[in-house]
Amino acid sequence: MRQSSIEKELAMPAVVEKIIPSYDRLFIGGEWLEPSTDAVIPVVSPTTGQQIATVPHASREDVDRAVAAARSAFDDGPWPRMTPAERAVVLARVGTEVEARLEQMIEVFTAEIGAPTAASRAFHEMAVGIWADIATLPERMQFEQDLALPGARGSIVREPVGVVATVIPWNGPVAAASMKIGPALLAGCTVILKPAEEGPVTTMLLAEAFAAAGLPAGVVSIIPAGRETGEYLVSHPGVDKIAFTGSTAAGRRIMSLCGERIARITLELGGKSAAIIADDIDADSILTGITFAGVGHSGQVCAALTRILVPRQRQDEIVGKLAAIMENIVVGDPVDPETVLGPLASERQRDRVEEYIAIGLSEGARLVTGGHRPHGLEHGWFVEPTLFADVDNSMRIAQEEIFGPVLVVIPFDTIDEAVAIANDSPYGLSGAVYADDTDLAESIARRVRTGQMSINGWQMCVAEPFGGYKQSGLGREGGTEGVMSYLETKLIQRF
Ligand code: NAD
Repeated sequence: MRQSSIEKELAMPAVVEKIIPSYDRLFIGGEWLEPSTDAVIPVVSPTTGQQIATVPHASREDVDRAVAAARSAFDDGPWPRMTPAERAVVLARVGTEVEARLEQMIEVFTAEIGAPTAASRAFHEMAVGIWADIATLPERMQFEQDLALPGARGSIVREPVGVVATVIPWNGPVAAASMKIGPALLAGCTVILKPAEEGPVTTMLLAEAFAAAGLPAGVVSIIPAGRETGEYLVSHPGVDKIAFTGSTAAGRRIMSLCGERIARITLELGGKSAAIIADDIDADSILTGITFAGVGHSGQVCAALTRILVPRQRQDEIVGKLAAIMENIVVGDPVDPETVLGPLASERQRDRVEEYIAIGLSEGARLVTGGHRPHGLEHGWFVEPTLFADVDNSMRIAQEEIFGPVLVVIPFDTIDEAVAIANDSPYGLSGAVYADDTDLAESIARRVRTGQMSINGWQMCVAEPFGGYKQSGLGREGGTEGVMSYLETKLIQRF
């Protein structure tokens, strides 16, 4: 691991304060309103550990106001009654307003979550792409379809599901919010977004984009808050559907709350995705890509490739090369253009990653590189890129999501065993296979039980169905399938 010139510049909160605005109002029903209490969320820089901004912490009363605004906009307002094409025109304006704030969002996200500028740019450009894509969806999908039925003429009519509560984590909030709010709005729903307590300011900039785009009253609210307020929101009788991204533990809890009233739900949860390396491929051409698919954004990506499955006879070769790549990653101040990995997003997250490193050691995995706080970076929540080898898939570091820059190498003897290891996981979000034999690669991709598989490369594709098998989630976001999850289906028969 190399270090950037962070030591010289870390004590620069004044500069950060210029970049990151504080807020004293909540975006409720399309208006900036006084919060109902004085409670605030302190925004702490993960790079310096210092407070850099505050935003209001929404209370139950604020949730009630947001739900009332969304309910009335859905039950009586124009939004659900407009055609999808009419709504798409407004949503294209949202995309333009997000793009107009792109540079500020990139800077703010880097300041409040610690993603290096390049990673922050990728997340926010992804969000701009999502809005551009949403605006074209009405051309690609059918909201109504006529049918000939026995003795009747029929129509299948797809109608918006109602008021949607969206709850998202901190690791890419504008993209995560856009993946939910865009399709929900296109479908004709009204939406309340509850961002996480960590890094809420970028979502306030998203609120500014909605305000500037000029949606009808009540259609969108953005109310940052913690878990307790989140639980109140998802249990609210005025909410028809919950779209959640976050940990599997929270998803399980929210799903049980939704079960009480049969509320609709989609879940995008955790992952422990495998990269399967076949015996026939040249390691030098793939290992840099695999490393960054695993530790990019400090490993705080749900679809990250965190289990590296290698032919046993090539373990030493591949581990040596992975270690060399990881030791050369520049860790440091996320605004430094040289920096490749910044800090973890919060102290809680750093502590959790360190706990898993200790668990890996106690389980008998071989620590090849990393495992510590980088020298000279004691003020923020930094952890070295860390590699474990000789990992058995039954170990906790292979089964549980660490959400940090920690990769585990698991050896296998046959391709059947590699597929079995990849599938021996409570998760099933993403994955990749690397093989020169393209028939072999294709057959492996079809046998691994995950929502996305990549062959000889890796990316998170959110424009087409994205979501998980097993405990990685329920339902899909992205593309036309993503919009369908915000629609109810009705059959009308005419006799
Ligand atoms: P978390 O589940 O603790 O929190 C995520 C969000 O849910 C936050 O806004 C939080 O306030 C809220 N929340 C938590 N418990 C709640 C409850 N009972 N009721 C209502 N709201 C509640 O997750 P985290 O640890 O902050 O974030 C990291 C997790 O998110 C990782 O496990 C990661 O895999 C997952 N994630 C998944 C995806 C995906 O698309 N599959 C994307 C990003 C992150």
